[in-house]
Amino acid sequence: VSDPGALVVGGIGELVTNASDVPGDLAVLHDAAVAIEAGTVVWVGDETRLPGPYRGLPVLDVAGRAVVPGFVDAHTHVVFAGDRADEFARRLGGERYEDRLAAGGGILSTVAATRAAGEDELVAQAADRVERMLRAGTTTIEIKSGYGLDVETERRMLRVAHRLGHELPVDVVATFLGAHVVPAEYRDRRDAYVDLVCGPMMDACAPLAEFCDVFCDEAAFDVDESRRILEAGIAHGLRPRVHADQLSRVGAARLAAEVGAVAADHLDHVSDEDLAALAEAGTVAVFLPGVSLSMRAPYPDARRAWDAGVTVAIATDCNPGTAWMERMSFMVALAAIEMGLTPSQSLWAATRGGALALARPDRGRLMPGDRGDLVVLDAPSHLHIPYRPDTDLVGAVVAAGRVVGR
Ligand SMILES: [Zn+2]
Repeated sequence: VSDPGALVVGGIGELVTNASDVPGDLAVLHDAAVAIEAGTVVWVGDETRLPGPYRGLPVLDVAGRAVVPGFVDAHTHVVFAGDRADEFARRLGGERYEDRLAAGGGILSTVAATRAAGEDELVAQAADRVERMLRAGTTTIEIKSGYGLDVETERRMLRVAHRLGHELPVDVVATFLGAHVVPAEYRDRRDAYVDLVCGPMMDACAPLAEFCDVFCDEAAFDVDESRRILEAGIAHGLRPRVHADQLSRVGAARLAAEVGAVAADHLDHVSDEDLAALAEAGTVAVFLPGVSLSMRAPYPDARRAWDAGVTVAIATDCNPGTAWMERMSFMVALAAIEMGLTPSQSLWAATRGGALALARPDRGRLMPGDRGDLVVLDAPSHLHIPYRPDTDLVGAVVAAGRVVGR
């Protein structure tokens, strides 16, 4: 009986390994094979040189297709209740988001629905999405809290994230985002809400999370509030990441660099100096092209960040308000077509870049010692991902050495 996480993927016409220290260098091999044991890659190379000991493993012969590392979606809000299709329609009809928010809609309607939902209901709804994401090739996914905005619901959201990781063959990275927006009941007492986030909410949520995130922007938390929250997170063992400068330039990217954030996300309004600071700090820039598409907003220039020496990732930001999108392959296409990245850079950003944005060095790459996560494309080359953006090209998904795709 073989180890269930043991497999040789053979007959690979084009293998993207990302086995290079140079961002954007996909380190492509041809006529290759990948051997996986106990869920971990043990060998990668020319198929004719597959070492004897691995020749007895079960084989997935992909018949000349292309294989890429499993996608790493480094920014999602997939745990939520309800939907906001009406809001989407109104927005396309011309209504401004600020007016919607003032009317108690927008994110606050998702907060109300999520607070009202039980844990099992949240698991069931989110599992549908995460299963689709997995079948579309996402093998590692970050999931944020942030639709509870009270101690109990924030903690419930993080429990749901953990349950998804246990119930589905996807690796879940949990992020505490109590500082997503100031809830309605604290509108006139912001300081009291920041106290709550830094105190009892942090105490309750930190044991269930790896990162602490803050939405640092004009509509959410200012730089001083955000710094306080991120420092409280650090004191609780949570690594910082920031929703930074999406709506306007408030200094959030700079704050991210100053606190040594693992990632700064969105970055629609950053200066060259901000990008230099992120590059210097080693903070990964996570771009979210689905938001620009859904919000009809200008796309941020990911190429500019790349050329400034910043490590770049792309992610879905899957959420019910500004981007209900689940497929990383579509993000690869958008980033290549709309954000200035080359196809190679875009794929690297969706795999290796995402792994670095989550401080998971054994992901988004196929080298001995890395997790056995990969995607078999129904195409001869990874270039088909952006070239054929509306075709489902994912033929099979392997997560930790197990075939989970169709
Ligand atoms: Zn977000």
